[in-house]
Amino acid sequence: SMASPALLMRVVASAYSVAEKAATIVRNVMSAGDLGIVEKTGANDLQTKADRLVQMSICASLARKFPKVTIIGEEELSTDEVTEELIEDGHCEEILKKTCPAQYTGIKEEELVIWVDPLDGTKEYTEGLLDHVTVLIGIAYGGKAIAGVINQPYYNYEAGAGAELGRTIWGVLGIGAFGFQLMEAPAGKHIIVTTRSHSSTLVNDCISALNPDSVIRVGGAGNKIIQLIEGKASAYVFASPGCKKWDTCAPEAILHAVGGKITDIHGNSFQYNKEVKHMNSAGVLATLRNYDYYASRIPNSVKQSLVP
Ligand code: AMP
Ligand code: MG
Ligand code: MG
Repeated sequence: SMASPALLMRVVASAYSVAEKAATIVRNVMSAGDLGIVEKTGANDLQTKADRLVQMSICASLARKFPKVTIIGEEELSTDEVTEELIEDGHCEEILKKTCPAQYTGIKEEELVIWVDPLDGTKEYTEGLLDHVTVLIGIAYGGKAIAGVINQPYYNYEAGAGAELGRTIWGVLGIGAFGFQLMEAPAGKHIIVTTRSHSSTLVNDCISALNPDSVIRVGGAGNKIIQLIEGKASAYVFASPGCKKWDTCAPEAILHAVGGKITDIHGNSFQYNKEVKHMNSAGVLATLRNYDYYASRIPNSVKQSLVP
């Protein structure tokens, strides 16, 4: 008989369905019209009803299936009982059919850490920039981001009634990434994608030093990695603290699965073990190709301002 699929593949297959359920919640909260906005550290650090419900949905659904996995979500929530209607117990069959890379077949539940950003791009969500929003479920093993799911609930929302709304991108190191068309950015052009709502003098000085041909300012870490893998931008540059491990884990796994690279602004890789500090204090530098070109041009003055 067929051996049962490896734990990692079962977790990714479940995370896929859980992320689709999350997308439905994100759309339903917006349609209902009451966002329930709460300021966390300030006006540029918001939480909505969608952030809260989605985190409960994702964390409770995955914890029920994989009770020994460590799950770390962005939002601090009271431990209210999660209603049954928030639970998703499905999985993606297509993912279960893929062969687990040999180095991951022996992984045990207690060795996995799942980083959850229930709604990345909350500021933009509240402003109606709906396709900036993503749901991020990143899976780490041995401190490394090895698999991830990015759901974009409002993909295609400006394409009109005929277009299918929303999509789910997933990837595993050693297998690849799926749910989108991999594209390279225009050759010889330096198109930087960066924050829209968390700029600073340092963020802008760093971008200027790279002499970009153009700068795309959009919300969300997940959204910016999508810009890289779809060839819209050549580098994601964010010379500031602010991004957290749940922002980068799923995007990192997907970017690395297609041969890209993401580090802090010094070139240090991110660690995702459960004890790690949540803040990516030394910013973000990510590319699909030509990482060294950008890394070698980050000014020392910028590096000195960002302590890992
Ligand atoms: P952005 O590119 O501004 O959308 O940021 C990417 C992710 O990092 C989002 O989840 C933001 O909420 C978070 N982030 C970046 N900078 C800050 C900040 N200064 N305060 C709070 N969150 C931030
Ligand atoms: Mg986020
Ligand atoms: Mg968030």
